Amino acid sequence: MAVPLVDGFGRQVQDLRISVTDRCNFRCTYCMPKEGLHWLPRPDILSFEEIVRVARVFVERFGITSVRLTGGEPTVRAHLPALVEQLAALGVELSMTTNGASLAGLAGPLRRAGLHRVTVSCDSLRPGRFAEITGRDMLGQVLAGIDAAVASGLQPVKLNSVVVRGVNDDEVVDLARFGRERGVEVRFIEFMPLDASGQWSAGKVVASAEVVARINEAYPLEPLTHGPEPAERFRYLDGAGTVGVVASVTRPFCASCDRVRLTAEGALRSCLFAVREADLRAILRGGGSDDDLAQAIADEVWHKWAGHSIGKVGFVRPPRSMSQIGG
Ligand code: SAM
Ligand code: SF4
Repeated sequence: MAVPLVDGFGRQVQDLRISVTDRCNFRCTYCMPKEGLHWLPRPDILSFEEIVRVARVFVERFGITSVRLTGGEPTVRAHLPALVEQLAALGVELSMTTNGASLAGLAGPLRRAGLHRVTVSCDSLRPGRFAEITGRDMLGQVLAGIDAAVASGLQPVKLNSVVVRGVNDDEVVDLARFGRERGVEVRFIEFMPLDASGQWSAGKVVASAEVVARINEAYPLEPLTHGPEPAERFRYLDGAGTVGVVASVTRPFCASCDRVRLTAEGALRSCLFAVREADLRAILRGGGSDDDLAQAIADEVWHKWAGHSIGKVGFVRPPRSMSQIGG
């Protein structure tokens, strides 16, 4: 029988985020250095079999209900639908976060393999600016990917936009309008100090409160009840859908955080900003049993921090970038 996976502060973990690769075909300035990162050698990355085994232990032993595939860019991992098929068989709510560039071809196969929902990251609707942010002139492919995701029946399709002061903060209303027109919920994310190149500064963070105020001026909003999910959600008063903000920096949601992350090489991280991790790959490849995995998972979760301390004196940047942790 499954037992709840609870940390030292009484929070229950429900959501497992799996980085299926550390590789990425984009170079988003807020995530990765321009020159890219050193990719992990192939043998260091968990196989599909290993990923599924860890996920199965989370589901069978701890009753985890939600699994999200991320990266790096998950769609650059070969044969992704085959992994989705095996994870879907575990009976969890299965979702993916992607840059969307390959979705035009992959949305249908992923949907048929059992993927339920998808979040596409897109920070600008202006081709030149999009290329500057991502290092790739691929806005057209991403927009086609969003359309393909909607058409394939993935439900819901959401959009993530990281807002950076002086980079794309003048596009908040345009992005919100895009979401209204396409029937997708846009979630505006505050810039976090996980960019690897050390460009982050408090001055580049656009507070979610400012984002909401700007959208509200153009399209009046009313708040929806704020549940355990990190996004604070709002409804357009004219009935044209919903929009969300993720105030990770200005209003951290650590007190209700229910997620853990598995990196591409099998390290379990209980917080985005964790400086310690559990090496599940060593157990997987060292002949460890499911009991050994469950014990290591429970130990790591027990040490989950009360919360991060961005902006405070004791804050330590984790040695990994967002692309190496998975968003
Ligand atoms: N490559 C996929 C993508 O871009 O959606 C999945 C991995 S990416 C690391 C996951 C999410 O993290 C994306 O929505 C991205 O915008 C967000 N992200 C990356 N760096 C960030 C940062 N420094 N602050 C806030 N969000 C960030
Ligand atoms: Fe790649 Fe996603 Fe990071 Fe952009 S945000 S560099 S697409 S991992």
